[in-house]
Amino acid sequence: MTSIVSLNAGSSSIKFSLFALDGSEPLQLLAGGKIEKIGIAPSLRVHTADGATSMERDWPDGASLSHADLLADLFAWAAEHPLEGREVAAIGHRVVHGGVEFSNPRLVDDDLLVRLEALCSLAPLHQPHNLAAIRAIAALRPDLPQVACFDTAFHHDKPEVASRLAIPRALHDQGIRRYGFHGLSYEYIARRLDEVDPALAGGRVIAAHLGNGASLCAMLGGESVDTTMGFTALDGLMMGSRCGSIDPGVVLHLQDEMGMSRVEVTDLLYNKSGLLGVSGISSDMRTLAESEAREAEEALDLFAWRAAREMGALVSSLGGLDGLVFTAGIGENDAAMRKRICDRLGWLGVMLDEGENQANALRIGSPDSPVAVLVIPTNEERMIALHTLTILKGLQ
Ligand code: ADP
Repeated sequence: MTSIVSLNAGSSSIKFSLFALDGSEPLQLLAGGKIEKIGIAPSLRVHTADGATSMERDWPDGASLSHADLLADLFAWAAEHPLEGREVAAIGHRVVHGGVEFSNPRLVDDDLLVRLEALCSLAPLHQPHNLAAIRAIAALRPDLPQVACFDTAFHHDKPEVASRLAIPRALHDQGIRRYGFHGLSYEYIARRLDEVDPALAGGRVIAAHLGNGASLCAMLGGESVDTTMGFTALDGLMMGSRCGSIDPGVVLHLQDEMGMSRVEVTDLLYNKSGLLGVSGISSDMRTLAESEAREAEEALDLFAWRAAREMGALVSSLGGLDGLVFTAGIGENDAAMRKRICDRLGWLGVMLDEGENQANALRIGSPDSPVAVLVIPTNEERMIALHTLTILKGLQ
């Protein structure tokens, strides 16, 4: 019996899911897990599909353990405890950047790794970790097919006008352009929408991926025509700790007038801004929603204002709006934030059903809302597994 693993290696965590290749339903989820706090005190938690913890391990003195060390440990453990009794047939990876070249998932080989390595400078906080995990597994199990699934790919074919920054064209030709991210999430949402409401899926839809990272995607007939993230995952919406779109003059001012180094500015924009920076309390939406502080309220208000404002921009890219889909941690669970955003979109005809919104139902728009409003849980891991299965079938 065999399985597919999808793996998402970030800077301080490695998340994975195990899907059965031979279950009663296609790609049935068997187990999932996460190695957290890499570089500090790593811990591993594995849970079965019903959420029960099946394995816990802590490395209290593991500050020096690298991603590769921890993956080696995980593989050694998995060899002794085959998860749910299944051999792994292939591993699919989330790779943040596919650049101009890659619009589809690819089987990993040495040549691909060299090409993806060249893209590290476009996503320095993510791409090196994604590739390190692939290399570590290739060293442990050279026989195991690995598949790279790109977060940029879903946006690859968006119109040229939505890809260009208003800078000298030579820089565009060198790859400084708007790529867009969260593509695996949006691809999953497009597929699910086609299942639950095919007519709407064929229309003009904004998908709102609101998690720690947050972005919007304008989808026309299920394909991306515009998105709020651009050259990096820093652009667009206000996020947990990232600033989103910002006047580039601020960056110049911080460096030239306030003497901040490149490293300090990077840390400020990625790690100290967004909900955390504005509230001074937390990057976590739940914590802010529970807070009585005026600063927390200001952060929530700005988050909603920015989301609604960017939605207005994407309506222009779409030439109108038939539906709005919320997803990811905040989008799927936070009825109050969805209401704040939708209240700002009344002029577009967005109307919520209070009860359905509170219940996180699939359809949360009021019956007479001209714009459909839905909540669809995303599942990037399943999308990775689906792509990996397709490539695996091509090898047989
Ligand atoms: P990541 O980008 O790390 O995958 P998630 O999609 O898990 O992020 O989203 C994390 C965000 O979702 C946090 O701000 C968290 O507070 C928020 N969130 C998760 N569950 C809820 C909930 N039940 N109510 C409100 N916010 C929630």
